[in-house]
Amino acid sequence: MNASSAPRAAGDLADAPPLIRLRQIGKRYGSGATAFEALRGVSLDVAAGDFVAIMGPSGSGKSTALNLLGCLDTPTSGEYLFRDVHVERLSRDERAMLRRRELGFVFQGFNLLARTTAQENVELPLLYRGERPAARHAAALQALADVGLDRWADHTPAELSGGQQQRVAIARAIATRPTVLLADEPTGNLDSARSVEIMALLRGLNETRGITILMVTHEPEMALWARRIVHFVDGRIASDRRLGDEERVRWAPGQTAAAQGDGSVDAPTGTDTDAPKAPAPTGSPA
Ligand code: ADP
Repeated sequence: MNASSAPRAAGDLADAPPLIRLRQIGKRYGSGATAFEALRGVSLDVAAGDFVAIMGPSGSGKSTALNLLGCLDTPTSGEYLFRDVHVERLSRDERAMLRRRELGFVFQGFNLLARTTAQENVELPLLYRGERPAARHAAALQALADVGLDRWADHTPAELSGGQQQRVAIARAIATRPTVLLADEPTGNLDSARSVEIMALLRGLNETRGITILMVTHEPEMALWARRIVHFVDGRIASDRRLGDEERVRWAPGQTAAAQGDGSVDAPTGTDTDAPKAPAPTGSPA
């Protein structure tokens, strides 16, 4: 159920059996004259341990594809197999179960609960899973340590910089030990230095823990952290290319630690563009 801990070399993946298979996926929104085909016959295999950047112009179907892959929506036609299970035949509850067991999500806007500490945010998916408090606390603190933020466990999002908030969101996504991480523009709200930290973190999760990553991005330099780039155009896959080692951003295990440090690089007292937001008014909705 959990991700393999074995690091994978890029060359291994071509021969590995696919974890995910999309077969001629179609997705139509609406009906009749206003119907719109957002996906038009998408076929894609993803092996366990791959790191796929999904690119393409606005409206090309990237988010629709990520929503389907994340079991948040169902296709209109075609097949989606996850570990040989037909996802398109599952009930809503079965899909939710698959999501909780196997998938983690990271979003552009971090999506943290505002008046809730980093630790409580990270514990949420474990709570939904029915984990006991002691196990939840331990797993959340471990996940926060994994992203270099264990010392920030008691802080609320307003007390954290954008880069730190995204790291909390990544901790929340990995606390359940997912097989696959789905990331929708994870660096879209961050400056370039913070973006590199987030990409180094994702790369580390992929390379050292074997977590499969599917990441939508419109930034070519972020896509070069992945192993493979899939381009969508008009609801179809226009190209699917595995990156050579010389093209990929160089990364070594030590780099994650160096880039993240203990939070000091990304401290909320900084004067850079990534400074934290002012504390939310107490009356504002979470
Ligand atoms: P991308 O992520 O590449 O920008 P999307 O997958 O969000 O593209 O959207 C693909 C197309 O489907 C767009 O033209 C969009 O307007 C349309 N679309 C997306 N979601 C819906 C929806 N819920 N209802 C109707 N049309 C939608």
